[in-house]
Amino acid sequence: MDLLDSKIENLVSFIRDKEISVSELCQFYLDRIEKFNGELNAVLTINFHALRRAKYIDENFSRYKDRPLVGIPILLKDVFCVEKMKTTAGSLMLEDFTSPYSAEVVQRLEKAGAIILGKCNQDEFAMGNSNENSAFGPVLNPWDKQFVPGGSSGGSAAAVSAGLCAASIGTDTGGSVRQPSSFCNVVGVKPTYGRVSRYGMIAYASSLDQAGPITMYVEDSTLILEVISGRDGKDSTSSQKEVPKWSFNRNPRKGNIKNLKVGWLNRKYIEKSCSLEVMQTLEKVEKFLQSCGAVMQDVSLPLMEMSVPVYYLVSTSEASSNLARYDGVRYGYRFDFQGNTPNSLEEFYSRNRGMGFGHEVKRRIIMGTYCLSSGYYDEYYNKASQIRRQIRDQFLDAFSGVSLLIAPVSSSTPFKLGENPAGSLDSYLVDSFTVSANLAGLPALSVPAGFSPLNGLPIGVQLIAPHFDEQTLFDVASLIQNEMKAAGKRPDVFLTKGG
Ligand code: GLN
Repeated sequence: MDLLDSKIENLVSFIRDKEISVSELCQFYLDRIEKFNGELNAVLTINFHALRRAKYIDENFSRYKDRPLVGIPILLKDVFCVEKMKTTAGSLMLEDFTSPYSAEVVQRLEKAGAIILGKCNQDEFAMGNSNENSAFGPVLNPWDKQFVPGGSSGGSAAAVSAGLCAASIGTDTGGSVRQPSSFCNVVGVKPTYGRVSRYGMIAYASSLDQAGPITMYVEDSTLILEVISGRDGKDSTSSQKEVPKWSFNRNPRKGNIKNLKVGWLNRKYIEKSCSLEVMQTLEKVEKFLQSCGAVMQDVSLPLMEMSVPVYYLVSTSEASSNLARYDGVRYGYRFDFQGNTPNSLEEFYSRNRGMGFGHEVKRRIIMGTYCLSSGYYDEYYNKASQIRRQIRDQFLDAFSGVSLLIAPVSSSTPFKLGENPAGSLDSYLVDSFTVSANLAGLPALSVPAGFSPLNGLPIGVQLIAPHFDEQTLFDVASLIQNEMKAAGKRPDVFLTKGG
């Protein structure tokens, strides 16, 4: 029984067959966190109730035995509220915030028998793509610690890659599940907007935010997504659509994708902007899909080049409104006036917000407030919303001709710490290939597809499907996973067992 190599369905079988107890599996990962987290900084908080809950499940096993995720230890990005646990969103602003309730995603995981192991590091309020924007220090890439793990769910992706949990949950507003998954050689899924409830998930940009699983294998993601998806009365944007049984239907095509039409998302643009190694990986995947009978074609999405500016106008506008609640009155960081009274309410607010928020968050609040201010609203926010609608229409148009789109996740392999300083134009352009799926609300995933011949770092490939067609994503991703043989690989140093 090799726990590190096992898919979640196998771990569940080991537990059901009593080859291992829930407490033992929980302890296995707690030991690994203790042993390895110091060098990665991926995990911020351990759930001290985890072992107790594991023991409780062991003692009441007959009640839990048939639950889909019985005993599976899961880490959460630190934007998910968990009752009685700290939830920081990677910010000093919420350093001491303890949530009085659990997010819907968390409640569903627990109902399915999962164990919440703890919380993962992230870019502050999910703003970033390198995890360098965390108030609690950067996360390092398990494949090479000079490189970033990606962001903003960098801690969650690094933790899965290093085997600190069986799976993790991240959030994706503009790529934050897919990009770190690609950088850490794990599978990351951004479901269709509305698939998963956002209740209890700290908001960045509400019309874009979606939670999604980060796992070693495609099959693990199907299992977890099935558990966390579905209508929730507490989130009016959550969809009524029935949740398919992806885990059982997995690959209903039985690997047969003959005549499946797959489009390159602006091939010319991809060729122009991607590194050779990323391009070569995409071409290998293309050849493989063709050998399975898929028909490849080029699909043009003329507005794709507008997606980064549109994304940053929309997301910062929404963020400026969502983050207005952190004023130090109801909750959040409160500046210590050392016995003196602030001169005005304004001073009180600005001290709290000035000290509580980090640079990137402040930059975005200022930009968003500017976009929404009267006089500029029409010129920026409204214009961006109009183009966003057109981007969505162009995708729908594209999907009248193809069933799936293929694209890079990132134009390059992971970059070095400090290489793309926050606020630089380059740092925003990193998101070129991921933000458009969020703007259009489409489901998309990153699947490991190879390693760079130059530096050995992972390269993921992105698949994008029509609204609510996660099935096609899973079908094709599992074929790619089996053929490219990159998924399931961990950095050698993390292969040693336990603590
Ligand atoms: N990198 C993007 C940003 O900084 C996306 C972040 C995300 O998906 N949460 O906004």
